[in-house]
Amino acid sequence: MDDRRSRSIRLFKPYVGDEELNSIREVFERGWLGMGPALDRFEQEWSKYIGCAYSVGVNSCTAALHLALAAQGFPQGKKVLVPAITFVSTAHAVLYSGLEPIFVDVDESSLTLDPEDLERKVTADCVAVIAVHLGGHAAPMEEILSIARRYGLLVVEDCANSAGGSYRGRKLGTWGDIGCFSFEEKKNMTTGDGGMICTNDPALNERLRQWRWVGIDRDTWKRAQTGQGDTSADQARHWYYEVAVPGYKYNMNDIAAAIGLAQLRKLDWMNARRAELIARYLDGLQDSELVRPGLPYELSGSGYWLFMIKVGERWRDPLMMALRSAGIATGVHFMPLPLHPLYARYDTGIERAKRVWKRIITLPLFPELTFEDVDYIVNVIRNFEAN
Ligand SMILES: *Cc1c(COP(=O)(O)O)cnc(C)c1O
Repeated sequence: MDDRRSRSIRLFKPYVGDEELNSIREVFERGWLGMGPALDRFEQEWSKYIGCAYSVGVNSCTAALHLALAAQGFPQGKKVLVPAITFVSTAHAVLYSGLEPIFVDVDESSLTLDPEDLERKVTADCVAVIAVHLGGHAAPMEEILSIARRYGLLVVEDCANSAGGSYRGRKLGTWGDIGCFSFEEKKNMTTGDGGMICTNDPALNERLRQWRWVGIDRDTWKRAQTGQGDTSADQARHWYYEVAVPGYKYNMNDIAAAIGLAQLRKLDWMNARRAELIARYLDGLQDSELVRPGLPYELSGSGYWLFMIKVGERWRDPLMMALRSAGIATGVHFMPLPLHPLYARYDTGIERAKRVWKRIITLPLFPELTFEDVDYIVNVIRNFEAN
């Protein structure tokens, strides 16, 4: 078992190389590193790829989620429905905006927001719901939309785990009113850190552009361009801008956008590669007594970010230890938010989430993982099961 000792398989790995470096080089050669033409282009290409009218580049999905709510101007203290199992940023965005989260229980098999519990928890005080496509598995958007329309809720999709994925033939992020994406280094595609907000609403697009750029109504690149060719009055006033809202410094810069342009060209391939690896895992584990798939993987057109398994509660920690001693990284995505001290006071009954999270394990998944790596990981699990 020398093999075991020498292996070290990480959980995620960004798939970056010469394409990204060449793209960054163009930005360096232009000598404009801030928000500029590369971001313009990335936003346009992203809109075309996703199939939305407007995309607004920001420096994280946390910022995207915050702006999605902040740009609405909801009265303070109103409520936002959030699934119990998600990354903390989904709920932080609610608190940042002076609103309060109501945690909705999850469906035990898909780990996404359960429409029945959504209907049970919604009140007249609710202004929005954030649907999270956990691990890349689509939340049940038709049911969520139908409840949201009935109660007049804004629908935000947290697509941090699902960039490029589709649901019923339509890209995730275009089902609700606003789609928020993450390009953090571990996610489906990366810009180092970064995010994108998608919408079809022209007025919202304008507001988001102000809010991400400290409230300024025209960005510096556009002002610099104005200085080259409009009327002389415009040229003389190229420095002029107005601020009407206390916006944030949340913009994406051109270095990140350059990486994003190169990554976008690889995104479909990376998602397809992850789907192949998931199929390999599922095949290797299909007759296991110990392990079940952690999500109901529907691989066609998918943008899965996580490969998760479910085991009996008492087996989770021992299996994670066995994987660790075989050089295999694992994780848990995610502990229900009301179990964190910050969110304990918002616990209004999320029993399924509290049960199921103790059974989930995330296994390595990234484009450069090999079938041989997957077979090795499956073998470690099968050996654990046999002993
Ligand atoms: C990673 C993640 C975020 C936050 O993304 P950042 O780009 O790191 O801010 C939000 N929601 C979910 C579900 C995530 O997994």
